[in-house]
Amino acid sequence: VNVDEKLAVDKFNVDEANPHIVLVDDPDPAEFDKLILCCPAGLYKRSPEGDTSFDYAGCLECGTCRILCGSTILEKWEYPQAGMGVSYRFG
Ligand code: SF4
Repeated sequence: VNVDEKLAVDKFNVDEANPHIVLVDDPDPAEFDKLILCCPAGLYKRSPEGDTSFDYAGCLECGTCRILCGSTILEKWEYPQAGMGVSYRFG
């Protein structure tokens, strides 16, 4: 079983009205590129045209982006409200 298959069994209850992670308006490109490599859920992306995107919906709440980049990228990083966010399976 590879990592993608393991991640696929987790459940996400997405709080559409209240993102638990919000990026700054103009994220530092070099810092953003770190997160393209380091976010284990692959939520930080750059298109072939160079446009960046981020989707908090699949967040694993690992805190990597907060520790690596802090306020250079993040305006807000909180754990989701109770009952929201990721539910891990198989530990
Ligand atoms: Fe990705 Fe972890 Fe940051 Fe969530 S907390 S966006 S999984 S690096």
